[in-house]
Amino acid sequence: MGAKVVDGRIISLAVQEEVSLGVSKLVERGLEPHLAVVIAGEDPASHIYVRNKEKACKNCGILSTRIDLPSTSSLKDILATVEKLNSDPKIHGILVQSPAPQGVDERIIASSIDPRKDVDGFHPSNLGRLVQGDSSGLLPCTPSGIIRILRESKVQMRGSRAVVLGRSRIVGMPMALLLAQQGVDSTVTIAHSRTEGLQELCREADILVAAVGVPHVVKSDWVKPGSFVVDVGISRVEGGLAGDVSPKASQVAGWITPVPGGVGPMTIAMLMSNTLRAAQEQ
Ligand code: NAP
Repeated sequence: MGAKVVDGRIISLAVQEEVSLGVSKLVERGLEPHLAVVIAGEDPASHIYVRNKEKACKNCGILSTRIDLPSTSSLKDILATVEKLNSDPKIHGILVQSPAPQGVDERIIASSIDPRKDVDGFHPSNLGRLVQGDSSGLLPCTPSGIIRILRESKVQMRGSRAVVLGRSRIVGMPMALLLAQQGVDSTVTIAHSRTEGLQELCREADILVAAVGVPHVVKSDWVKPGSFVVDVGISRVEGGLAGDVSPKASQVAGWITPVPGGVGPMTIAMLMSNTLRAAQEQ
């Protein structure tokens, strides 16, 4: 029997509907949630992501403003733009689209955003709250979207063994923290490019989150039968997009998220949710 393919688009529409309701209530009180998206450069994939974010804003009734900067922008230029947005009371959420221009440290940009407007959830104080076991702040969108997928799928998380492949600041690390937090209660192993015995490790996982960026690196014999496999990876390959998980894994897993149409739409939905929350709290 094949895995159940979890449609992230459907869950994301449900999240966006919740957000729309919240937005309407704020608008009735005279407050229009407003997201500013800064994009520096011509990276075609980034432009697609930004357009999708603008579309989602429209869908939820959130105002969006896009600020285009040249690919030659320096850290100083980007920080000056962020500073203006930080001090604009009409802007509730700020996002600087990744990747930043070459040589610009994204961590410095993340730290420059007012934590109350940090809808990506990458500011050290928001990530720090998460480390302290407080998940009530603005959470990174991809990991929080994955938690929502797991909850909606009614998978048993308490007491489960989870393996997160990847230890990045934006996906792997916060994902591991969210899975291990009280109330989710998974026991988590974080793996990376230096981990030995990846196959055996992954085969123990009831929940396997692959956030690596190497097409089809997770083979079907890495997957525990009946487990929940979350494929975060998006790589451009000949003929379209590929996730980190081999398509054959769906013959073994119990649930699997597709690429595209799995985690990606949830990331955008959680961005909308964070923008609403940021507006509510300002
Ligand atoms: P990243 O910063 O490049 O991190 C990749 C992680 O994978 C690193 O920790 C790296 O280990 C590990 N890794 C690399 N090769 C490996 C291997 N062969 N075996 C085990 N681990 C390996 O990437 P990221 O930003 O976390 O993104 C990961 C993927 O998710 C990318 O494809 C990205 O496009 C996608 N993504 C999707 C969404 C979405 O909304 N769907 C959002 C964000 C990212 P080291 O630390 O040892 O180098």
